[in-house]
Amino acid sequence: MVRHQLVVQEFKEAKSIGVDTVPVLVGPVSYLLLSKPAKGVKKSFSLLSLIDKILPIYKEVVAELKAAGANWIQFDEPTLVMDLDSQRLHEFTHAYSELESSLFGLNILVETYFADLPSETYKTVTALKGVTAIGFDLVRGSKTLDLIRGGFPLEKYLFAGVIDGRNIWANNLAASLNTLQALEGIVGKDKLVVSTSCSLLHTAVDMVNENKLDKELKSWLAFAAQKLLEVNALAKAVSGQKDEAFFSANEAAQASRKSSPRVTNKAVQKAASALKGSDHRRAMNVRNRLEAQQKKLTLPILPTTTIGSFPQTLELRKLRREYKANKMSEEEYVNAIKEEISKIVKLQEELDIDVLVHGEPERNDMVEYFGEQLSGFAFTLNGWVQSYGSRCVKPPIIYGDVSRPKAMTVFWSTLAQSLTKRPMKGMLTGPVTILNWSFVRNDQPRLETSYQIALAIKDEVEDLERAGISIIQIDEAALREGLPLRKSEQAFYLNWAVHSFRITNCRVQDTTQIHTHMCYSNFNDIIHSIMDMDADVVTIENSRSDEKLLSVFHEGMKYGAGIGPGVYDIHSPRIPSTHEISDRINKMLGVLESRILWVNPDCGLKTRKYSEVKPALTNMVAAAKLIRAQLAISE
Ligand code: GLN
Ligand code: ZN
Repeated sequence: MVRHQLVVQEFKEAKSIGVDTVPVLVGPVSYLLLSKPAKGVKKSFSLLSLIDKILPIYKEVVAELKAAGANWIQFDEPTLVMDLDSQRLHEFTHAYSELESSLFGLNILVETYFADLPSETYKTVTALKGVTAIGFDLVRGSKTLDLIRGGFPLEKYLFAGVIDGRNIWANNLAASLNTLQALEGIVGKDKLVVSTSCSLLHTAVDMVNENKLDKELKSWLAFAAQKLLEVNALAKAVSGQKDEAFFSANEAAQASRKSSPRVTNKAVQKAASALKGSDHRRAMNVRNRLEAQQKKLTLPILPTTTIGSFPQTLELRKLRREYKANKMSEEEYVNAIKEEISKIVKLQEELDIDVLVHGEPERNDMVEYFGEQLSGFAFTLNGWVQSYGSRCVKPPIIYGDVSRPKAMTVFWSTLAQSLTKRPMKGMLTGPVTILNWSFVRNDQPRLETSYQIALAIKDEVEDLERAGISIIQIDEAALREGLPLRKSEQAFYLNWAVHSFRITNCRVQDTTQIHTHMCYSNFNDIIHSIMDMDADVVTIENSRSDEKLLSVFHEGMKYGAGIGPGVYDIHSPRIPSTHEISDRINKMLGVLESRILWVNPDCGLKTRKYSEVKPALTNMVAAAKLIRAQLAISE
């Protein structure tokens, strides 16, 4: 089947069982702006120049949908909230006026989301030809209301995204009704449509089977199915049929959330507020710190290490599952994990890796593991959301002030350290990653929650240090994911995100080495923020990129931190040869000084099998030794 017929097919299928749907297509301009050119295409080539090639295909699909009986078609144009220059804006005008004749007789919704529109963009969008409706995210788009007040075209519909599609919180219906009534005054009753702020792909599906969450907490939540009820209730209320019982239940839930003692922890609030506007840095600069650490650690040049997790075997998963289900005693569980850790430690010693890890066998997920031990977090049974492709995650819900009742990792880390003379890395997830991979409370700014988590992780870092762990890795796999779409908002985010990270380790001794790991490799635009995290060693994903990307770290050399660009790809079962890895290290040495280079895979090994991990790490260590020998000769 020709790919684009699928959307027509799906429309017909729904219609055949009596459901009239609004087919949703990626709008033509965003489609091109968000595409990546194939390998080998010249950098100077503008994908937008293909617009006149794809518009005829759009016309064809629209015609087919129309023939199949569609009344409305939605074009998602998420790029409209980004910083667009006048040439790009012109492409929107051009594309929709080209489509205009085929759109005739249809209602066309152009949907925007995740932020407000720059005012020039707003002007362009509201003037688009052939478009009969425009959708706005009124949750994240804080300035959109002002734009609409400044003028909205008489003949168009306004889709008001007042229900947050990106979280799991019940809407404040009274506040939304106010907003809607204000909008009604501007666009008129018959032109106002109540909507979610974006697709419901980003929230959990239905609360119906969440029988582990208590009643109070549940009353504060709304998953996708409940959000639809909210949309419906608001639409009815706007048209004068307010469901008083529904609204007052909502009001009571909002009030209980505000006043519930489980949400507020005064001491935590005070400590987190005190952090704002201040700076937290280690006293000594990174160069000198690394020197002090090296005296203690006496590592070879090009030290080898891994990112943390070792293969999560079926037996391990079963073990954790049974322990959770109370099918085994704590003692039995601890012994089994202990055994796993000693196997992992032994293996790394046999492989002759320099800085060891305990392998994270006690963790199912790098965020959930910490969330389960922190207060202020709740967990769903079925709150799955798609992360990418066919992968799904079950983000924790942060509902209250975050604190750490007791040490979370010290037991396992010290146990692992006791099994070896080599340095054992303590392994933590950083505050920004915990934040970005959770459903975050919406009753206080994200940065306050981030600072609270940072303080909890800081306690853990200091406990690990006290327990004799001298290298601590604080993963910030998701730091970049939280970067706002608009340039004007990025510096603010990066500032508090990086500050949160620094808070976690600002108090450790000079001789304690802080690592961080990030799951991406293109640092061009945020390199200064990465340096400002002031970690001693940064490991990054680099195996699928070329060394050119590393050159941004060259400038950072003035700063002097260690860097471990992944030397092989853990996302593939392929086993890299020694030659291949040494070749990569050599290329990296063309860009980075040997003094600062670390040798490691590009992410954790949990998705791999031992039959892949053992030979791959064997080759990695052999490659590091080979280059060390070559460097020794050339000196
Ligand atoms: N320490 C984690 C692990 O190795 C890091 C995972 C990640 O970067 N996503 O599994
Ligand atoms: Zn990673």
